[in-house]
Formats: sequence, structure tokens, C-alpha cells
Amino acid sequence: MFDSLQALPEDPILGLMAAFRADPASRKIDLGVGVYKDEHGKTPVLAAVRAAEQAVLADQQTKTYVGPGGNDQFNALMTELILGKQHTALTSRRVRGVQAPGGCGALRLGAELLIATGSRPTVHVSDPTWANHVPLLSGAGLKLESYPYFDARTGAVRFDAMLERLDALPAGDVVLLHGCCHNPTGADLSMEQWRKVADVLLQRRLIPYVDIAYQGLGEGIEQDAEGARLIAATVPEALVAVSCSKNFGLYRERVGLLMVLAENEAQANASASHLRKIARGIYSMPPDHGAAIVARILSEAKFNADWRNELDAMRNRMLKLRHTFAAALTKTCNAEVGTAIDRQRGMFSMLPLTPEAVDTLREKHHIYMTRDGRINIAGISLESIDYLAEAVGSVFR
Ligand code: PMP
Repeated sequence: MFDSLQALPEDPILGLMAAFRADPASRKIDLGVGVYKDEHGKTPVLAAVRAAEQAVLADQQTKTYVGPGGNDQFNALMTELILGKQHTALTSRRVRGVQAPGGCGALRLGAELLIATGSRPTVHVSDPTWANHVPLLSGAGLKLESYPYFDARTGAVRFDAMLERLDALPAGDVVLLHGCCHNPTGADLSMEQWRKVADVLLQRRLIPYVDIAYQGLGEGIEQDAEGARLIAATVPEALVAVSCSKNFGLYRERVGLLMVLAENEAQANASASHLRKIARGIYSMPPDHGAAIVARILSEAKFNADWRNELDAMRNRMLKLRHTFAAALTKTCNAEVGTAIDRQRGMFSMLPLTPEAVDTLREKHHIYMTRDGRINIAGISLESIDYLAEAVGSVFR
């Protein structure tokens, strides 16, 4: 049986991580893998998470099963965190949230729900998009196409081209949108642009699928959800996949949520029942631990306040890095590159570098990033910015 399987090439990100670890240089910089890092290059457990985790463990009476939909308190609190407490989708009871194993699990659940409807819509993703969107969605049997999104030269969204494409899609197709902190480009829609997108989605009867994996790491918790909130207030049907990996630092605990917005309460309930059935057939139920921690943080004032402060600190560190790096790049590359980095948001940006230039950075300067030029802003330290900007300038054309 298995002799028909050829070994696959290593995942480029994992290969990059291994190469970084093996590099003996004393000055080396890892801008590859997408986890938040502090000024010392560490990804510590958040203090609010540690405290809530201890409270969860102290209070836990049993380890018995929870169920395919996961923790109901987590589902309710996360739905409120994304939409805001007074959102019409909530007051009209048209939305349901189902816990999922991370944002990836949520994205796959949503894809399987689309398949379960029997309509097999095409999903349109931004060009470029996060690489894992492709296997997560197409693995469920959905066809993928891309819409124009990023202008690598200016570092901005090609908004007219994007809108024109969306305006030509057939009714019932799905449009995947990054809620904030676009991965890999950092180029987000303005609220005015979200409004135009929401109108086109409504008019053309397209189904938005919002992926929000960085709430609180762009402009702020409320601001980063504005796009998703506007979409949910405009269209009759939508999906929202949420990840708690980055903003709670819970990566390996696998905490996420899939929200479905339906035309009415009965359809929302029916959709949630299908999501639970799908979950049961793939992994039976999501892991409890991380979701229990998030529920505790969101429901207890002290933990909540501490978490918000820690999230603010992570965001502000990245904003400061962006600003300082942008000023340095303006000198070593040009003002356009600097302005783009300064305007973009979240954990990632894409430097306008050729794959060969990226190779040179790694070989000559011990600076590691994927060959598309994507950098993890949190991988920079203030102390390394001048070195980094000089090196980027030396390979930039
Ligand atoms: N969507 C995007 C755009 C992401 O960048 C990520 C994390 N890299 C995810 C979803 C989901 O991550 P996880 O499954 O680790 O929660």
C-alpha cells in the first residue's frame, strides 16, 4: 500500500526554521515563522493566560467529554468579542458560534459546511493569501480562484481591480476576506473600502467568509473587528473563522471558532447542527483546555483587563517596530518602501525583494524570511533595525 507514496519535500517554513537554528552566526535574525516574539525573541505564555489556566485547573471537577460544538460559554463570549455585544446579528439571533481546533480547524469546518449545502461554490481568495488557505479549503472539495489584491510596488491594496472582480462573480460564490492584519501583506481595507465590498457582496449575493486571526494586533480589539462587524450587519449570510492562537498566545492549545450567520434563527440553528455533525465525523470534538482558558479570561474582569493590557503591549511593540523600521528603510531603500511598512498593520509585511535577494540576505547577512519576501514584524528587535535595513538596502533594486 504505502510503497506508492513518495516522500514530500519539506515545508519551506519548517526548512527555514531548521536552517536558522543550524546557522552558527552570532548575529542572525529570524523573520520567518508567524508567531509573536518579544524584544528578546521569546514567545512567552501571557500572564493572563497563566493565571486563568491555574484557575481553570483549580476548579475543574471532571475530564469527561464536552461535545462536538465545544464550550458554549467560549462560543458565546467569542461571538460577542468579534461582533460586539449589541450587534444586530446577535440581537436577531441569526448567528451561532462553534468551537474549533484553531483558526485552521475553523476554516476547514466552514469549508465542510459549504460542501454540506450541496452547492459547491467557488471560493475566491486574495492574491496573495496565506498559503494554508489553499489546502484547508480545497481539501474539503471547494474550487479556489483568486481576486486581485496586493500591489507589490506600492504595498497597497489594488482596490479598484479587486472590486471590479468581485462585481463580476456569479451569485452564491464565496469571497474569503482577511478581517484585519492581512497575511502575508499587512495591507488592509479601509472602512470606506469595507463598505464598498459589503455593498457589492450584498448586491451580487456573494457569501463572505471572513478569516480573523489577529484581532487586537492591528489597530485595537474593536477597530480590528470593524470590517467583520460591517459585513455581518450588511449581508444575510456569512461565515467567520476566528483564531485565538496569536491574540491569546495559545498556539499549540488549538483554540478557534467558526461563526455562521444565517438569514434567520432556524437556519442558524440548522447550520450549527451540521457543524457539530461535521466535527463529530472529523475529530469528534475540539480540545477543551485552551477554550476554557479563553472563556475564563473573557468572563472575569481581572483576567480580562490583564489580557487587554498584554495585547495592547504586543500591538504597540509591533507598531513601534514598523515605524522605526520604516524610517530606516526610507534611507536604505526609498520612501515608498518605508511608507508601505508604516501604513501596513499586523504581524506581516512583504518586502519588494526577488527570491534571489532573499537568498542573499540569508547567505550573506544571516537574515531569514520566506522567498516571497514576507517578514514577521515581531521577529525584528529595535536593536537590530539598522543592521536589517542596511542589509535589505544592499539587495534592493
Ligand atoms: N488564518 C490566518 C490568516 C493565519 O495567519 C492563521 C495563523 N497563521 C490562521 C488563520 C490560523 O491559525 P491557527 O490554526 O494556528 O489558529
